[in-house]
Amino acid sequence: MGYSVEYRSDHIEMPRFRQKYQDRDKFMAFCRECPRYDSLWSCPPLSFDVDTFLEPYTWINVLCAKIRLDAETIRTADTAEKIKTIGWDIVSAVKLDTDERLREMEAQVPESLSLSSGGCSLCKSCTRKSGAPCRQPDKMRYSLDAFGFDLTAITKDVFHIDILWCRDSLPEYFTLIHGLLADKPVPEKLWRTVGLYSEEI
Ligand code: SF4
Repeated sequence: MGYSVEYRSDHIEMPRFRQKYQDRDKFMAFCRECPRYDSLWSCPPLSFDVDTFLEPYTWINVLCAKIRLDAETIRTADTAEKIKTIGWDIVSAVKLDTDERLREMEAQVPESLSLSSGGCSLCKSCTRKSGAPCRQPDKMRYSLDAFGFDLTAITKDVFHIDILWCRDSLPEYFTLIHGLLADKPVPEKLWRTVGLYSEEI
């Protein structure tokens, strides 16, 4: 599988970010239709009050990973099954790597917390359905979607990228949106330190 990842980041004050991009009622309706609803600890329904959870953070540092697929990979995915499998494998690998780098970032930014893209995929099977606690609470991070943030609008407004979807073939690129909640904007050199910085997107 051939692909390359380019990162771009920005920072926005939380009140403005929430006012522009959060619509819990609208996106919770979508979440309820998703097979992951109530099946992963990272996904809705969340067991805590969202306003209280987000209240300590005055800034969000938003990160976009643009995953460009090479022509050979797009050509190889010539059946619906391959499109699904290859697309999932690529996106999952980048998501896990980005999550790990963001946890490194947390260690360098006091009182910060990273947010992931999509549901948690750290375990083969999540414990939520059995009612047992999360196996890796130190690593699991909630996704932006779980709080009702509009990822399509964020990708377009903040990073000027249109989201592409798999249809009859793999798209030219995928995009993932992650975040770091903090009490300040993260300087560029820190993004570079953890390998989440690219010159161009
Ligand atoms: S770390 Fe494992 S148990 Fe916890 S949310 Fe993720 S998949 Fe579920």
